[in-house]
Amino acid sequence: MLKVGIVGLGGRMGHALYECCLGLDGAKIVCGIDKNTDTLPSGCSAEVVDDPYKLSAAPDLFIDFSRPDCSLNVLKYAKEHGCKVVLGTTGFDYDQKDQIKEYSKHVPIVFAANFSVGVNVLLNLVKKTAQIMGDSDIEIVEAHHRYKVDSPSGTALAIGEAAAAGRNVNLKDVMVSGRDGITGERIYGSIGFSSVRGGDIVGNHTAMFCSEGERVELSHIATSRQTFARGAFRAALWLENKKPGLYDMNEVLGLKA
Ligand code: NAD
Repeated sequence: MLKVGIVGLGGRMGHALYECCLGLDGAKIVCGIDKNTDTLPSGCSAEVVDDPYKLSAAPDLFIDFSRPDCSLNVLKYAKEHGCKVVLGTTGFDYDQKDQIKEYSKHVPIVFAANFSVGVNVLLNLVKKTAQIMGDSDIEIVEAHHRYKVDSPSGTALAIGEAAAAGRNVNLKDVMVSGRDGITGERIYGSIGFSSVRGGDIVGNHTAMFCSEGERVELSHIATSRQTFARGAFRAALWLENKKPGLYDMNEVLGLKA
């Protein structure tokens, strides 16, 4: 039985992970990390602390859906205590992503901006379409609930990375986000991002490939956080016998060519 610690247990994803685990045979939640103990799932009897260094015992693996500063502290603890990590938090800057790479030399990590199977299928389709429709203008539109704190979403950025990989360019060099005012004409070869925030939208993403006279749109709509929770536990069980390294959902799902 895999002993799992949930980081961000009191949050929206923490609740989804808790519910998901109730129906699983191979994994058990033994502890949680959250700075807010008022919003923990009801019925949860696991040890919950606000910092991993206060835990009485280390779990085998952490599933982390929290905030970047919290996740980096968990990775440090995981390195020192031999834990594995499934990392779903988004909003890391480039320097923080480099730190995750460093930790992965010692810690087996599955890091994905989106743990749903459908989005990972979408990422593969986006890369292929960007290759085939080489001259099209690529625009990525995402919509999320009113509480989301980062923009564009981690998934939108992953879609941008997939499109950029299909074009053999670096996303950093071609990204245009949140146009406003007199922006001038669209820059040829750029990849644009737009974000919508409102209500309880779980997560919508569309990649648009716009050419003269036609347009291809590839969309994914998440209707429940259970899709992310199931994917995260699938990644956790997959990680059980893996060596240190930075893995993604393509590898977990066997989609990597
Ligand atoms: P949320 O705000 O509902 O939950 C985050 C939880 O983390 C909160 O309970 C908060 O108290 C806790 N927390 C924050 N900072 C902390 C700290 N320093 N120490 C201890 N606890 C801390 O957010 P959410 O909607 O559950 O999303 C969490 C993260 O997961 C976000 O980055 C979101 O974008 C990401 N996310 C990823 C996927 C995916 O598939 N990869 C899917 C959904 C959400």
